[in-house]
Amino acid sequence: MFKSILVANRGEIACRIMRSAKNMGLRTIAVYSTADEHALHVQMADEAYLIGEAEAASSYLDGDRILQVAHDAGAECIHPGYGFLSENAQFADGCKQARIAFVGPDAAAIKSMGLKDRAKALMEQVGVPVVPGIHGSDQSVGELERQAEKIGYPILIKAVAGGGGKGMRKVERPEDFVSELAACQREAKNAFGDDVVLLEKFIENPRHIEIQIFGDTFGNYVHLFERDCSLQRRHQKVIEEAPAPGMTETLRDRMGQAAIEAARAVSYHGAGTVEFIVPNSQQLNDQTPFYFMEMNTRLQVEHPVTEFITGVDLVEWQLRVAASEILPLQQNDLSIHGHSIEVRLYAEDPASGFLPSPGKIHGLCWPEISNDDLRIDTGVATGGEVSRFYDPMVAKLITTAETRDGAIERMAQALKQTAVLGIKTNAGFLADLISHEDFVRGSVDTGFIEAHLATLPSLTRTARIEAIAIAARLAWSETDCPSEDFSNDRYSPFGQANAWQLGGGRTTVLDVEIDGVRTTARVGWPQDNVYEISIAGEKFLVSNFNIENPLKASVNVDRETVSLSVAADGETLLVYVDGHHLSVRAHDFLAVDDVAGSGGAIIRAPMTGKLQRLFAAQGDVVAQGDRLAILEAMKMEHPLVAGISGIVAEIKASEGEQVGDGDIIIMLETESAEV
Ligand code: ADP
Ligand code: ADP
Ligand code: MG
Repeated sequence: MFKSILVANRGEIACRIMRSAKNMGLRTIAVYSTADEHALHVQMADEAYLIGEAEAASSYLDGDRILQVAHDAGAECIHPGYGFLSENAQFADGCKQARIAFVGPDAAAIKSMGLKDRAKALMEQVGVPVVPGIHGSDQSVGELERQAEKIGYPILIKAVAGGGGKGMRKVERPEDFVSELAACQREAKNAFGDDVVLLEKFIENPRHIEIQIFGDTFGNYVHLFERDCSLQRRHQKVIEEAPAPGMTETLRDRMGQAAIEAARAVSYHGAGTVEFIVPNSQQLNDQTPFYFMEMNTRLQVEHPVTEFITGVDLVEWQLRVAASEILPLQQNDLSIHGHSIEVRLYAEDPASGFLPSPGKIHGLCWPEISNDDLRIDTGVATGGEVSRFYDPMVAKLITTAETRDGAIERMAQALKQTAVLGIKTNAGFLADLISHEDFVRGSVDTGFIEAHLATLPSLTRTARIEAIAIAARLAWSETDCPSEDFSNDRYSPFGQANAWQLGGGRTTVLDVEIDGVRTTARVGWPQDNVYEISIAGEKFLVSNFNIENPLKASVNVDRETVSLSVAADGETLLVYVDGHHLSVRAHDFLAVDDVAGSGGAIIRAPMTGKLQRLFAAQGDVVAQGDRLAILEAMKMEHPLVAGISGIVAEIKASEGEQVGDGDIIIMLETESAEV
C-alpha cells in the first residue's frame, strides 16, 4: 500500500477521501487555492500546499502545478475526487509519466468514455443497449434535422462533451429544431470548448438508475448494485438512493451484467459508474428495458449510499486497485443490506429560483450521530465560507435503515435537526421532497421535482414564518445572550424594546427589513417574553422564547412549540425556522431605495459573476419576463429577465465583464415615460 496520497480536490470529497486514507495509515497531502486557506480539507490534511488563485483554472484545474507539488511533497498517488481533473485523460497520463499512481482508470479508458457519442458507439459494438438516437453523424444542420425527424419528436440535443447536466436541450416541435440546435452548440462551445452534438429520443419522465462497478488490473470485475438518482432538477441529481424502489433480482442482474460489459469494453480498472435511463413503466419488472446513457470514470458524488448497503469503503477499494492489489471481494461475496438515501445540501435559495447563495457561515448545526444510521459528508464548518468560485454543494446527508421507510424517517428527522445560518440552503426543500407522499410510495421519476415544485411548502414563506423571525429579533435584543452589537444599535427600534416595555402592555409599529425587503409589522407586548405580531393582516401570539442555545432555540407560536436556530451577523439576526432562512434587521430609513422606486425597471446582478451573454441593446423594446442577459456564477447560468415591459434605456455592463453582487446591469424605462 502507498504511504502517502495527494488529494487534488476540495470540499466534502477531499475530506471524505482523506478519512479513508488516514484510516489506512497514509500521509495525507492537500492542495488549496487562495479562497480555501481556512477550508476544512486544509485543516484535516497532514500537509497542505497553496497552488494558486481562487479561479479553478489557476488552481484545482492546474494539472502541471499539482504534479509539481506531488513530486516535491513525495506523494505516491493522487486521488482526483470528482469534477476538476477527475476525468482529464491528459492529467492521468501526466501522473503516469511522473511515476505517481493516478487513483482512477487509464487515460485510454477515460478517453473512450469521455465523449458521449464515442461511448455510445462502443457500447453498441459490445451489445449494451443505448438510448435510441443518432451519434457520430455529419454535423450539418440539414442532416441533423433529417435525423431528428427520423427519431421522432420530442428529441434531446446533447453536447457530446457535456456533463453536470449542462449542454442539453429538449426540442418538442420540428419548427424549433434549428434555433435550439444553434443555442445548444453555442452553450457547448462556451462550457466545454466543443460544439459536437448527438440526438436522442427524449424519454418522458424516465428513471435514472446507475450501476456502481469496480475492476482491478487483473481483469476482475464486480458490480455493487444500483442507485436510483431519479430525483433531479435541471438534469442534476438532488436525492439518490439504493437499492432502487421496486427493483427485481433479474433486472438488477441484467443491468449489472451490462455495466460490467461496458467496463470490460474499455479495460476499466478502479471505481466507475454506468448510467442507464429506464423508460417509465409504473412498475419495474424482469423484462423492463434500460438504455446506456454514459459512463462516469470516477468516484460519484452519491457513492455513500452504495457504501451503506454493501458495507464496502469504495475509497479504500480505489486505493487498493491503484496499488495493484486484487479486488477484495468477488460478486458472490457482495450483498445488499437495508436501504440508504442521500440528499445533497446546496447553498441555494429554492424560493428565488434556486439562486446560489455563497457567503460566510455564521452558524451551523448538524444532527447528532449516535448510531450507524446517519453519515454527514461535509467540507464546511462554522465560520467557514461557501465560496462563489466553486460548486454550491456544501454537504451530503446519508441515512440507512432496514427498510426504505426507515431511511426516509431518519432523513426527515436529520433534516429537522440541521441548521445553516448565514447562507440559504435547500434543506427545507429536501425535507419537503423526502416526506412527499409520492416519494414515500416510491413513485419516482426525473419529472418528479418539476411536477411538485409549485406545491412544496418550504417554497412559500408565510406571514407566520415572518412573525416568528421578527419576534426572534426582538427577543434576541432583550436577552443577555451573546447579543454582540445589538445592545448599542440605538437607532433601531429593536434596541428600545426594553424601554417600551417599562410602561407595561404597549403596541408599536416596527419597520423591518426581511431579506432586504421592507416589511411593516404591528407589535404588542402584553407581558414579558410575549409578543403579538400582526403582519399582512394576520395576527400571531409568539411567546416563551428559549434562546439559551441559539442554534437549538424554541418558541411557542399560538401555543404550538416551534424549533428554530438563530445567529447574529452584526445588527442582523439570521433565523432558520421550518426550512426557511430569513435575515431580519431594522429598516434603514437613510438607505436609498432605488429598486423599489423603479418598479422592477432596474436589473441588477443577483450575485457576483461573469456577464456571459447580453440579448438586449439600448433602445430595444422588451416585454416583462424577457430574458435580457445571462450571468454565469458558481458554475451555473442565471438568466436576467425584464421586470417590466418597456424600452432598454441603458446597459451598464458588457459581455464577458465581471460584475459584482447588486451591480446595475440594465435599466429599463416604461414606454409611457418616453411620451
Ligand atoms: P455525480 O454524477 O458524481 O453524481 P453530478 O453528475 O451531479 O455528479 O456532477 C458531475 C460533475 O459535475 C461533478 O464532478 C460535479 O463537480 C460537477 N457539477 C456538479 N454540479 C454542477 C453544476 N451545478 N454545474 C456544473 N457542474 C456541476
Ligand atoms: P451528464 O453528463 O450531464 O450527467 P447525462 O447524459 O448523464 O448527462 O444526462 C443527465 C440527465 O438528463 C439524466 O440523468 C436524465 O435525467 C436526463 N436525460 C438524459 N438523456 C435523456 C433522454 N434521452 N431523455 C430524457 N431524459 C434524459
Ligand atoms: Mg450523467
